[in-house]
Amino acid sequence: MKISHIEHLGIAVKSIEAALPYYEKVLGLKCYNIETVEDQKVRTAFLKVGDVKLELLEPTSPESTIAKFIEKKGQGIHHLAFAVEDGVQNALNEMEANEIRLIDKAPRGGAEGLHIAFLHPKSTQGILTELCEK
Ligand code: ZN
Repeated sequence: MKISHIEHLGIAVKSIEAALPYYEKVLGLKCYNIETVEDQKVRTAFLKVGDVKLELLEPTSPESTIAKFIEKKGQGIHHLAFAVEDGVQNALNEMEANEIRLIDKAPRGGAEGLHIAFLHPKSTQGILTELCEK
């Protein structure tokens, strides 16, 4: 597996509308895309900081894992996403061979048309980790 860069940081927020003024007006970043990912029950807003993106995640249902995360831990950094160059499935196979617990056994579709898969924080030193590829 080859990690090329940090693709984005996922940040759990209660409301994108309430969070955006901080990112746009105070930090001076620009939101360039807002998209709902139905199967994950989230609405996402993307901002760019150099080559790294921030992905704001707002729950669209109380059943959303983001809603549960906010309930337990409050708003904050939710996951770290690495871009991999040689396929998410290859990376997952390699992770499994290293006895890393997988949340997704196979890549699925994420926001911005990426192929994504999550690794369990219990085997990634406490950080929910996403692997993604265009
Ligand atoms: Zn993500």
